[in-house]
Formats: sequence, C-alpha cells, structure tokens
Amino acid sequence: MRSIICPLAPLAGQLVHVVRFTGSRRHLHADNQHKMASPTLKPLKRVGILGGTHGNELSGVYLVKKWLKDKTPVTRSTFETTVCISNPRAVEKCVRYIDTDLNRVFTEENLRLPKDSSIYEITRLHELNAMFGPGAREQYDVIFDLHNTTANIRDNLILIGSTCDVDVHLTNHISQKIGDDRFKVFHLPSTVGVCSAAKSGFGIEIGPQAHGTLVAEVYQRMEEITHHALDFIEKFNQGHEFPECTVEAHRILEKVDFPRDKDGELTAMIHPKFQDKDWEPLNPGDPIFLSFNGETISYKGDTTVYPAFINEASYYEKGLAFWAMEKVKLTAPTLKVQE
Ligand SMILES: [Zn+2]
Repeated sequence: MRSIICPLAPLAGQLVHVVRFTGSRRHLHADNQHKMASPTLKPLKRVGILGGTHGNELSGVYLVKKWLKDKTPVTRSTFETTVCISNPRAVEKCVRYIDTDLNRVFTEENLRLPKDSSIYEITRLHELNAMFGPGAREQYDVIFDLHNTTANIRDNLILIGSTCDVDVHLTNHISQKIGDDRFKVFHLPSTVGVCSAAKSGFGIEIGPQAHGTLVAEVYQRMEEITHHALDFIEKFNQGHEFPECTVEAHRILEKVDFPRDKDGELTAMIHPKFQDKDWEPLNPGDPIFLSFNGETISYKGDTTVYPAFINEASYYEKGLAFWAMEKVKLTAPTLKVQE
C-alpha cells in the first residue's frame, strides 16, 4: 500500500479559502526522471474495474452492473478482468457513502482497524483489500475506478501516485483514440482512493452528470474510455512496441474553498462567469465567486492556473470549491513488455 497524503481533508470552520497543496513540484519532477529509468514491464495479468465507489455516481454503477451480467465486453485474451461494485450498500441507497467516504479510507492506519468495524466503509476496505490489494492472494496489477462529477470536466483520467511508463503510455493511447480537446489528465501525487489498492490505479472520471442520475452521453464516454484502456493493456501484453511519448497532465497547486463566515457558513457561490469553465485558464483578478449580496470576488493567486472540479456537489462538505491546477508534461520512453 502506498503512503498517503490526503489533499481532500475537510476544512470545517476555516475562513481562509485558499490552501496551498502539500505536494512539492520537485518531487513530481523526480517522478518524471523515474519514468525514464524503467523502459520495460512484465505483462499485466489482473485488472479490476470498480463502479459505485461513490454509490450515487451512476455511470460506473450501471456499467459494472451490466458487465457483472455479461463480462464479454471487458474480457480480453491476455489478462483476467474482475468487475465489482465497491460500495454495494451506498449503491443500494443511491448515496455517496454510508458512514464515511470509501475513496478516502485506503490507508495503512485504517487497514489495522478491526474488520468488523461499525463503520461500514472500513469493513468494505478490508474486503476490497483482500480482493484486489496487498491483502489478496495476488495483488491486482491495475484498477480502473469509475466516477462521475457534477463539474464540467468532460473526460478525465486520474493518475495516482508515482506514475510509471505504462501509465503515461496508457494515457497517450486513450488521448490518441478520443482526441485531446475533450480528454484531460489529472495527476494526483498520492491517494487514499480505492484504486490505490492495485499496483497501478486509475480513476476514470466523467462529467458533468448530477449525482443520482444518468446522462447517456456521459455513460457512453465512460464505457468508451474503459474499452480503450483495456485495449491498451491487451496490446501491451501482446508485445506491441509503443514509441516514446509525451502527454499533458494537470497537477494540483491550490485547493480553493468557498468564502465562509466565522461559523463556516458559505457567504458566496461560484461566479456565473466561472461556472463550467473547468480546464480553461484562470488569471489573477478573474471572477470566481459571487457573494449573496452580489459582490464579485476575484481569484487572488499570483499566476495563471487551470481550474477543475468547479462546483462539484460532493466537495461542499470537503471545503472545496475547485482545484487550481498547473500543466505539466509526462514523458515515457519506448515501451515494450518484458519477455
Ligand atoms: Zn466519485
């Protein structure tokens, strides 16, 4: 299990609405150098596809339910695919979680808690770890965890932790298949998410879609990206040589909360000019919030950033109005499976 920094911890009662992210740029540049040092990999033999980690994000829930009935569409010849509803009780109730956010509990500390915890998601953590994680007979090589957001982020692949060559090539493969204009990459340097149970974890996050609803186009895009990801692994295992590539990704610079009063109550909402502007350049002085009295509040950062997850419904409880990101390049050398 990877060590964890949680960039999403709630900030209840804080008045300051900008929190600088704890990940360091130097660390991430070092990741890039690491990538250049590992040109080959062994075949990827076990792949998990999870839906319903958040029980009200319905594209993944219904895709996984479909594949549980017939796994043929996600079956490939060179690896085993397992599909799973991660949080079945939350899916049953169509809520994000029962007791706590399952996508924030994958820590070594929590794995030391009793399996019969009164917190449902801790019990589920142990079950998923035994299926896919270091607690399994054989840890999974890859997990794709399917999510939706109410934000207008379109097609988003989330890379977790220290990325390796295969991560970069998988990203490049999907990007080439669906086109850069609607496909964005978000690199989280560390995670407490479910997909971190596997050796390589990816979030496939598609929006906008209101939680508890299905939008056909969003469902189809999630299905298409999942197929491209599986096809990449199949080609890799079959010995295809992928030429050196560079992809654009986004990395968190700041976590920006809503303005709040001394009791932690919101005093403003996302500005109409900022709503749905995910990934578009945000410059210092641009409007980001509109107070309930009609006052515009501007972005006070010192550089142009690229916002994401603007006005995501489930982030209100986490003290997050949007993430301010920077663009980075991820490069990988020629990739070929290790014979
Ligand atoms: Zn989610």
